[in-house]
Amino acid sequence: MKNEFDQRAEWKETGPFRVAKELFLDVIFTFACDCACPFCIARTKNHAQEDPGAWERAVLDAFRWFDIRSVILLGGEATVDPHFLDKLRFLTRAMEGKNTDRLILTTNGCTLRDTAFAGQVIASRIDSVNLSRMHHDQAANDRIFGRGTMTREEIAALHRQLNNAGKTLRLNVNVWRGNLDSVQELEDFIQAFAGTCDAIKLTPLMETTMFDTVEPVTRYTRERAIPEKQIAELWEKLIARHTLRRRASRVLGFVDYAEAEIFGQTVILKYAQVEDKYDRDRDIPTLKLYPNGCLSNEWSFTKDIRTRLPAQGGLPG
Ligand code: SF4
Repeated sequence: MKNEFDQRAEWKETGPFRVAKELFLDVIFTFACDCACPFCIARTKNHAQEDPGAWERAVLDAFRWFDIRSVILLGGEATVDPHFLDKLRFLTRAMEGKNTDRLILTTNGCTLRDTAFAGQVIASRIDSVNLSRMHHDQAANDRIFGRGTMTREEIAALHRQLNNAGKTLRLNVNVWRGNLDSVQELEDFIQAFAGTCDAIKLTPLMETTMFDTVEPVTRYTRERAIPEKQIAELWEKLIARHTLRRRASRVLGFVDYAEAEIFGQTVILKYAQVEDKYDRDRDIPTLKLYPNGCLSNEWSFTKDIRTRLPAQGGLPG
């Protein structure tokens, strides 16, 4: 299963830009979501700005201008978009004949409890599902998400179906003060879900927010974010009790990762992210495509990178 370790810290000079060789395109289908996580970076109430026509033009432009290796579907919650399957088909057609070898869906999983819908997702071009899960205790998990979410058994069943189709499932989990913030709690979580997925990714809740978010979100995360040094200590304590497989330093200049085997389960540990380590006028570590049709190298749906592209033709290099 490919993961963050495959996004090498290598760049190529491309026209006026410095572009990641393993370029990811984050495609935000919709700003809407069926959950209500208090730490969400995407709850921006910008639904009214969604523009399917502009979104489609931006998809075509992204593949016309850039060599995109991986596409990640995001939101909000991508699957609550009423046009989800149509957009997925459009995107799949745009990928034809390109170098893109991964199409990943990131989801809270609520809509995948509908087995008919899950079947359509599994039968699609999507080759990996990243499922957000916040706690091994179902009641706590439901409380964090603000609604009923996939149970452990449902996740295990989805994992089997995806693997049978040659696809993979990863659990994405945020760690913050009071939620999975000790070795014991992390081990309990990993043990509870060992074997129900191909990998578990642990990410510290970030203190700062992105995505043009609003002040209350910043306050929430500021109160709960664990400092980078403490996260590093927590990860090292956890790794010391299990098996370290590999490390990756400063991927694309700003993120460290470790991969460990814990109770037979692959676990990816993300260290705190050092932001603002790239030149926003020149560097493209990832591209983001927003529901309003903005294509950007930032978590902002107003700064369109196409304003800085040559007037016509392709990018050299
Ligand atoms: S499930 Fe994801 S997009 Fe939805 S509210 Fe929670 S964090 Fe935000």
